[in-house]
Amino acid sequence: MPPIPAPQTYRVKSFGCQMNVYDGERMGELLTEQGLSAAAEGADADLVVLNTCHIREKAVDRVYSDIGRLRREDGSVPLIAVAGCIAQAEGEEIMARAPSVKMVVGPQAYHRLPGMLAEAVAGRRAVDTDMPAESKFDVLPRRRRSGPSAFLTVQEGCDKFCTYCVVPYTRGAEISRPFADLVEEARRLVEAGAREITLLGQNVNAWAGEDEKGRAIGLDGLTRELAALPELARIRYTTSHPNDMTDGLIAAHAENPKLMPFLHLPVQSGSDRVLKAMNRSHTVDSYLKVLDRVRAARPDIALSGDFIVGFPGETEAEFAETLSLIDAAGYAQAFSFKYSPRPGTPAATMDGQIAPEVMDERLQRLQAAINRDQFAFNRASVGRTCDVLVERKGKLPGQWLGKSPWLQSVHFEADVAIGDIVSVELATAGPNSLGGRLLVPAHA
Ligand code: SAM
Ligand code: SF4
Repeated sequence: MPPIPAPQTYRVKSFGCQMNVYDGERMGELLTEQGLSAAAEGADADLVVLNTCHIREKAVDRVYSDIGRLRREDGSVPLIAVAGCIAQAEGEEIMARAPSVKMVVGPQAYHRLPGMLAEAVAGRRAVDTDMPAESKFDVLPRRRRSGPSAFLTVQEGCDKFCTYCVVPYTRGAEISRPFADLVEEARRLVEAGAREITLLGQNVNAWAGEDEKGRAIGLDGLTRELAALPELARIRYTTSHPNDMTDGLIAAHAENPKLMPFLHLPVQSGSDRVLKAMNRSHTVDSYLKVLDRVRAARPDIALSGDFIVGFPGETEAEFAETLSLIDAAGYAQAFSFKYSPRPGTPAATMDGQIAPEVMDERLQRLQAAINRDQFAFNRASVGRTCDVLVERKGKLPGQWLGKSPWLQSVHFEADVAIGDIVSVELATAGPNSLGGRLLVPAHA
């Protein structure tokens, strides 16, 4: 491959989970530090980074079709880098299948992107899917920009090995970032304008560290420390594992007013047999008991979850148990997926793979139940007064969009600015959002 002109502009396109969104932002910061600038909305970029997700087959197909379609207005192909979990899992295959891809970098090695870029410019394709001993977090630039709501990865990887899931293979073993580094990154995000920080991890509630006095602390201790940052108004965390909901974290929901009343606690199935086959290491009963403890601490908590339909061997009766669990748990929202066999995971070769049309039909019924409960939760919120963090302008003139403490989208008309936290009465409910009325003018 001949040398190419050094790129001047870049675009990072992130797919999948919020941890990928965080990684995508960090790659952007790294490239900015190298002197590149972010391509304007709608404009061509010299370098396109596809920050990919490997969790389901559909996500993988989409990236290959994206690679094929990437063209600039003059017909030329930009410099393409594939990052993220597909890069980790299928690095060499991507290089063989897609000659237009010049760089492939895994989620633990993206801090090496500048060196790889130099290689690509010199005419050499570069692959780095190492899980290096040095931590990318020690090398990434200091954070200088933030919107009102920011992500902060505190924990990465997973040791739980659910039988359907690629995360332990693509993201590696579970690690917790050091306490002092997290407090420092949070402080910088707040200085850069963040009013809300969402702490991220594949099993975020398994985060463990030592405070400045060397005492062992968990996520509750970290949220307590972050709550001391005066300009930080809201703290959230996702995704939690039911087995890692400690008494301390549950108590924090009662004690720490900056910890928002929202909990994303995936369960995957309402059948104990399926949960066991998934290697989830919790039962329906133990999950519901966690919810009881959380609701005792914070009665208004909004519950979210993840579900998989059509896991190998799932019978109609077992699927019906999942619908019953939805009735018992009371979700404010939830994500649901058709089981997708992932190469190399134990479930991919299990007997009893479910036909696609059966999965489609189950997913429809599951989503109908979730949508019903989400709408009911929104309707039950009407009449409440709450703080809303203003995140962006709405579609209509004078309209703004923000989030309630329960992570509902709220739209309202007022004279406010992005980053304001305003008192709003929730007045109307739709299936996916609420309409509100500003109670106290923000700029009186
Ligand atoms: N660590 C989190 C947990 O344990 O719930 C979530 C990790 S995963 C990125 C997010 C969700 O993707 C999972 O909760 C699960 O519902 C879904 N998922 C993972 N592997 C899947 C597969 N092979 N097929 C369908 N959905 C899958
Ligand atoms: Fe995947 Fe299970 Fe780990 Fe979640 S806990 S990341 S679903 S292996």
